[in-house]
Amino acid sequence: MSHEKDIESRRRFLKAAAGTAAAAVIVGSLPRLARAADLPHLAETDPTAKALGYVEDASKTTDAKHKAGDDCANCQFYSGGATGYGPCQLFPGKSVSAKGWCVSHSTKKA
Ligand code: SF4
Repeated sequence: MSHEKDIESRRRFLKAAAGTAAAAVIVGSLPRLARAADLPHLAETDPTAKALGYVEDASKTTDAKHKAGDDCANCQFYSGGATGYGPCQLFPGKSVSAKGWCVSHSTKKA
């Protein structure tokens, strides 16, 4: 094999390897995302949700414990994104609204 051809085949191999690594990263993170998205949304009528005064929209709560700006997205028990729905440690198997709130809200430590 000539020197040029050798470099060319090595380049091709590196390109393929890089593509495979990127694909592995994407595939590897999919199950976690899929699981979070699959969790059924917590209903305000759920007995535990009711007991904790959970609301899907923090601005709608009439609970005196609610402080302006507090919502699930900045609660330490929440592990979802800033929008949509995500898991809350207090409601296993369910997802809560990022804009939701309940009396157990505890501000996330920075
Ligand atoms: S504990 Fe936090 S994340 Fe869970 S529902 Fe209450 S405010 Fe939202």
